[in-house]
Amino acid sequence: MNTIHNIGVFTSGGDAPGMNACIRAVVRTALFEGKRVTGIHQGYQGMLDANFTEMNSRSVSNIIQKGGTILKTARCLEFKTPEGRALAYQNIKNAGIDGLVAIGGDGTFTGADYFSKEYDIPVICVPGTIDNDLYGSDYTLGYDTATNTVIDAIDKIRDTAASHGRLFFIEVMGRDSGCIALNAGIAGGAEAIMLPEKETAIDDLIELLEKAAFKQKTSTIVIVAEGEKNGGAYNVANRVKEKFDYYDTKVSILGHLQRGGSPSSFDRVLASRMGYAAVKCLLAGDTRMTVGLRGNEIKTTSLEEALHNKEFKLSKDMLEISHIMAI
Ligand code: ADP
Repeated sequence: MNTIHNIGVFTSGGDAPGMNACIRAVVRTALFEGKRVTGIHQGYQGMLDANFTEMNSRSVSNIIQKGGTILKTARCLEFKTPEGRALAYQNIKNAGIDGLVAIGGDGTFTGADYFSKEYDIPVICVPGTIDNDLYGSDYTLGYDTATNTVIDAIDKIRDTAASHGRLFFIEVMGRDSGCIALNAGIAGGAEAIMLPEKETAIDDLIELLEKAAFKQKTSTIVIVAEGEKNGGAYNVANRVKEKFDYYDTKVSILGHLQRGGSPSSFDRVLASRMGYAAVKCLLAGDTRMTVGLRGNEIKTTSLEEALHNKEFKLSKDMLEISHIMAI
């Protein structure tokens, strides 16, 4: 087993609230264990550019409450090539980094998978993405915060929708995963929720809206996940308006405001637990593993499994609850 002296930590892909709290946990756990920590800036791009900084406890002061990532993030196409990864390995070896903690989503995990197969460098991955679309963790970092941001927006839109008797289509993030849409939809009392995982026919949606109108609802909110199959909130709204004009109709695309903001207490604690566990795993000699929350315990899953198993995180009960609560 290789003894690790210097842990490199980086964030990559889409930023998510809680990434900073996780960097902090990695740095402080590693220092507590008597190890050095190197911050790698801009994800895999930073490995190619040798953009490294030695971190100490003060480097991560006052960041637990901050969204985004102090190490920055980037999409790095060159890392997808064998030549790019060879240069990255050379640079991290030259810097004396002998173990890595990667915080990011599916793409970040894929890069870590290639890298750790090709080169003798232990890697532990932490699931950081608002989409909650990774196998091996009930929750990914940032998902809880993003869901709360969406709920806040729904509540505000509900005020105006109810005052004017309007029908609102609110588009939320989730190209392949309907987790934010379903959970925020239930929590925000949405009348309908359209998900990437489950096609909604426009005629069925209209029938549901007619029912809501018949029951004298004063406002109606439809949550549309960006990856649902009818082409997004504007398309859905236009098609609904052709056949159903009971309400004044509006569309609101929440967009990137869902990515930012101060992490919730849940994400801060999760980030602390995952960052701590990632360092402990590295020091125990593990590699090619991901850490995740299952039940209320932090568990590891092999990178292989995390990448190849697809988990359907929307339970049948949750789907039924969303229907029953809507009318
Ligand atoms: P996320 O981690 O949020 O899913 P991306 O899909 O953009 O974000 O992936 C982040 C980075 O991971 C990419 O910019 C790239 O550097 C690296 N990466 C993604 N896919 C691969 C791949 N197939 N091979 C090597 N590196 C990859």
